[in-house]
Amino acid sequence: MISLPIDVAEIKGFLPPQEGEALFRLALDTAMLGPCLEIGSYCGKSTIYIGTACRRSGNILFALDHHRGSEEHQPGEEYHDPDLYDSEAEQMDSFKTFRKNLRKSGLEEHVVPIVSSSIVAAKRWATPLGMLFIDGGHSSEAALADYLSWTGHLVPGGILAIHDIFPDPADGGQAPFEIYKMAMASGLFEKRPMVGALGILRRL
Ligand code: MG
Repeated sequence: MISLPIDVAEIKGFLPPQEGEALFRLALDTAMLGPCLEIGSYCGKSTIYIGTACRRSGNILFALDHHRGSEEHQPGEEYHDPDLYDSEAEQMDSFKTFRKNLRKSGLEEHVVPIVSSSIVAAKRWATPLGMLFIDGGHSSEAALADYLSWTGHLVPGGILAIHDIFPDPADGGQAPFEIYKMAMASGLFEKRPMVGALGILRRL
């Protein structure tokens, strides 16, 4: 068990403890290689696992999310949460909750929120990454854009973690699994054992 600054069970999100703890350990293991970047922070559950590892190692986590919700978070969709709906903007807004959780965790010196779409943030990105965690939109277009925009910034030895890998379509959407397979087929990565639905690859 790892010690986290707040009870992550109270944070809205879809990351089981076992997978969060795996992210924590991967972030510690790669701390010497460069900063971490996560795509899809939502309310900050994974951010707190990775950010706590960054605090321990003196590293930085870039936490990227437009905070307007993925397809499945929109009104009428399966994972819509009315608490996160900004009725004035008529859009989802998870940033306020994310920021509150980050402040309560005392991780503001170790996490840099980037409130932007992944594609826009990637346009002029030039910082090599030690770890990349992809947990953004689950449409094929979004997952592919995240993969193509960001994996090139991983340094050799760096870790690519992809959430919601379901080899059996009956268990969930296939877009994350498609980019996971694409990464393996590229010859640029070595496969590590999965942890739950977390696919883990090491950049060669
Ligand atoms: Mg996920």
